[in-house]
Amino acid sequence: MEVLYKSTRSSQEPVRASMAILKGLTEDGGLFVPDHIPALDRSLKELATMRYQEIAYEVMKLYLTDFTEDELKNCIARAYDEKFDTEVIAPLTEAEGVYFLELFHGATIAFKDMALSILPHLLTTSAKKNHIKNEIVILTATSGDTGKAALAGFAGVEGTRIVVFYPKNGVSPIQEKQMVTQKGDNTFVVGICGNFDDAQTGVKKIFSDRQLCAEMEEKGFQFSSANSINIGRLVPQIVYYVYAYARLLAEGKIEEGQKINVVVPTGNFGNILAAYYAKNMGLPIGRLICASNDNKVLYDFFRTGIYDRNREFVLTSSPSMDILISSNLERLIYRIADDDPQRNALLMAALSGEGRYEITEQMRDKLQDFYGGYSTEEGTAATIRRIYESCGYVIDTHTAVAASVYEKYTEETGDRTPAVIASTASPFKFTRSVMNAIDQKYDNMTDFELVDELSRLANVAVPAAIEEIRSASVVHDSICDVEEMPDMVKRFLKL
Ligand SMILES: *Cc1c(COP(=O)(O)O)cnc(C)c1O
Repeated sequence: MEVLYKSTRSSQEPVRASMAILKGLTEDGGLFVPDHIPALDRSLKELATMRYQEIAYEVMKLYLTDFTEDELKNCIARAYDEKFDTEVIAPLTEAEGVYFLELFHGATIAFKDMALSILPHLLTTSAKKNHIKNEIVILTATSGDTGKAALAGFAGVEGTRIVVFYPKNGVSPIQEKQMVTQKGDNTFVVGICGNFDDAQTGVKKIFSDRQLCAEMEEKGFQFSSANSINIGRLVPQIVYYVYAYARLLAEGKIEEGQKINVVVPTGNFGNILAAYYAKNMGLPIGRLICASNDNKVLYDFFRTGIYDRNREFVLTSSPSMDILISSNLERLIYRIADDDPQRNALLMAALSGEGRYEITEQMRDKLQDFYGGYSTEEGTAATIRRIYESCGYVIDTHTAVAASVYEKYTEETGDRTPAVIASTASPFKFTRSVMNAIDQKYDNMTDFELVDELSRLANVAVPAAIEEIRSASVVHDSICDVEEMPDMVKRFLKL
């Protein structure tokens, strides 16, 4: 049955999957949502015999219904290949009786690779299907991880170019080096004098600059976005929850049909929403445990039914979760508002106006699947140290937020259902915080000394993504003020 994509904010005409991927956002400023959640049409036993790429096809074919089998399999084959440093793509590692689903074996060693390695292929295929001849120009503002993952995904992909703006003084040294050493003629990286919000606002302005868009069209270009609200990023994220279940079943860790709990370190709410969709497709998931850091908007929301962004923004050691507006939560709100776009639109208007909204009792009743928790900086560091000391396994700060919340969850509820923790980044990406959590004595080492020390401690080879930047030369050294951002884009495109 065909899945069409509706807006969360109005009853505008639904569109096919390929069009939703091309557009990213709906015209009324809402998000695309599937008009129904399809059910898995393979048994769990069958899935348990499949490789990652096969499961990806079984899941994605149900959502991207206007893609042919060939198109979809082609996208999958090009995404989940040797860019990943393990054939299984997303391995499970058991530590302290829970299963860490390692989503960091792609090109940039963070979970964004799971979706951003396939998005360029979904986009170019969608462009072809809709007879779009223009070259697609991806514009992205990044606070660190997304930028590099998008660059790696789009580099060298025919028919696309990518421009990434990052705050010159707002990313970690390793993150900056990863970006400015990016190869590929179709890539362009610019540091801006300003913070992440300035970069984000600048990009939004360029998107809505009609004159620039007209000039682009004339020269055969059009803008698109790779941010996490694109359904082309959401759908590939459902895959690894199904895969994790299938692996646990294949390895005899669970019985067919037995429930598992899922724990997700959450920022923009994309990753955990994918788990929620997987549950609604029939995957036996019990609780969805949503883990926050000190920016605990979501914890408060699940506790009180009030979403309130009016609070201080806290910088933590898990920067990819330092977020006060979780964009993908809108898709959940829409669903618990009985798919009523008007009700959702009112709440979203309150969020942009007063920075807060409150849901009804009936809506709260539909959130029983979720448990919200948060971890303090001390709790996160203590969790890294404890797991290292008890098992020799080193996890990154984001994953540690989840592990810390999960510990609280089991203490509070006594629920011992087998649990999968989404492990969203390699510890090598946040080496300083991770090593300091294990022992303060590491504080005086340089970044690359820490990398080698971590490799010794954890008995894990330094990932290629880190090895590469050790000696790589800088290829992008452009810096600009916020006002100059459109000119930088023009210069890159030779407009
Ligand atoms: C982006 C990111 C997250 C948050 O994921 P969301 O889908 O935005 O909730 C968590 N951990 C890491 C390492 C990330 O890069």
